[in-house]
Amino acid sequence: MRFYNTLTKKKEEFVPLEDGKVRMYVCGPTVYNFIHIGNARPMIVFDTARRYMEYRGYEVNYVSNFTDVDDKIIAKAIEEGVNSEEISQRYIAECKKDMEAMNVRPATTHPLATQEIGGMIRMIETLVEKGYAYNVDGTVYFRTRQFKEYGKLSHKNLDDLRSGGRSLLVTGEDQKEDPLDFVLWKPKKEGEPFWPSPWSEGRPGWHIECSEMSKKYLGDEIDIHAGGEDLIFPHHENEIAQSECCNGKPFACYWLHNAFLNIDNRKMSKSLGNFFTVREISEKYDLQILRFFMLSAHYRSPLNFSEEIMESSKNALDRICTAVETLNHLLENSAGNLNDAERQLVKEMAGFRGEFERSMDDDLNTADAIAAVFELVKFANTHADENSSREFLETLKQEIVGLCDVLGLIAERKTESLDGEIEALIEERQAARKAKDFGKADEIRDRLLAMGITLKDTREGVQWKRI
Ligand code: AMP
Ligand code: ZN
Repeated sequence: MRFYNTLTKKKEEFVPLEDGKVRMYVCGPTVYNFIHIGNARPMIVFDTARRYMEYRGYEVNYVSNFTDVDDKIIAKAIEEGVNSEEISQRYIAECKKDMEAMNVRPATTHPLATQEIGGMIRMIETLVEKGYAYNVDGTVYFRTRQFKEYGKLSHKNLDDLRSGGRSLLVTGEDQKEDPLDFVLWKPKKEGEPFWPSPWSEGRPGWHIECSEMSKKYLGDEIDIHAGGEDLIFPHHENEIAQSECCNGKPFACYWLHNAFLNIDNRKMSKSLGNFFTVREISEKYDLQILRFFMLSAHYRSPLNFSEEIMESSKNALDRICTAVETLNHLLENSAGNLNDAERQLVKEMAGFRGEFERSMDDDLNTADAIAAVFELVKFANTHADENSSREFLETLKQEIVGLCDVLGLIAERKTESLDGEIEALIEERQAARKAKDFGKADEIRDRLLAMGITLKDTREGVQWKRI
């Protein structure tokens, strides 16, 4: 497995620190609103990376935080006249609903910044003791120039940064020793949430949150750190500086960054106002389609969002689901084991999985992996028919469903949800009959008939069949 590492600007063979285990941290969202589909990109992409590594036999410890203390959360709380916790708890719950609908698995741990303040303070104390940080009137700054490797992730030169950062001096931050220094701890302002610390009652800076949560849940050294490319600088650069100066060890071995999700070729973001929330999209599309859309491009390529591409994603995903549905129909009246010709075909079929793995091994090329799934679908459509053995049909189906599952795509979703709907209608009809409302019972039977479902009343209950 090879990953493109932002740190070295190269694709590198993945070798974990500990055999068979992966420690992975993904920067999570700041929870002050529903997540937008730009935020969904790293969630989907890195959930897929996790699934693929598990498929490859690794045990993945996957940590992704929620930033639940932040200026924007505070502003929203003031606007609504509630406390910050109410805002963050509400949007964490909503975010988890969106994640589930996108088939993004919960992380091994989802730490909350506000629950980890003690650890952050200890890290800052260590940095102060080691001379990497200093306190000015209750604000603690990181002494950036003290870390000789600063800039190694974003490949920025400190002196260029200095000239770019000069404007900082005139924005009221002139207590800093150097414009490049950044905040580790800041004193509270009126009405803001705060915690006691050796320097002031206040709250941590954003960057120290991830350094601490990564350290606590994964250890001083981790395999993979990931997030959107906007986080490379300054967020991840600062995380490296804090963690490596505090722990005295290299922080993360592989840095993975997804490119932006754009709209009209501009980054989708809340501040630009050009965004769709995941929730909005779910009103029109099953979020499996959004997932498919995200994975149809390589994660390091910019991806432009449009209704047109969502429509074609819908059709593409439908093609996979229809192939599985057809196999299910054929399976209903099938029997027997593989014959010789089928045995040969099954050998041929293995080629698609090989192609799928080669693509995923090459820096998670989900676009090519999906292409391999389509080849497989075409193969199934060509070779499966009424004369196929049960074993052959089952093998084809498991192969399609299994490869889709590695990508977190549910190829059998439709029939499952349809089955649920049918069963709910049957129950409703039974209740109507019990209540002697035969008009309603007949009406439901007709509705089911229109859906292609016939009912048979047996001693064991109502049985249904597709026609
Ligand atoms: P935020 O809540 O802004 O801290 O973002 C949470 C995650 O979403 C980070 O990894 C960001 O890099 C990522 N992100 C935000 N906007 C986009 C976008 N338009 N495209 C891709 N990733 C994004
Ligand atoms: Zn982070």
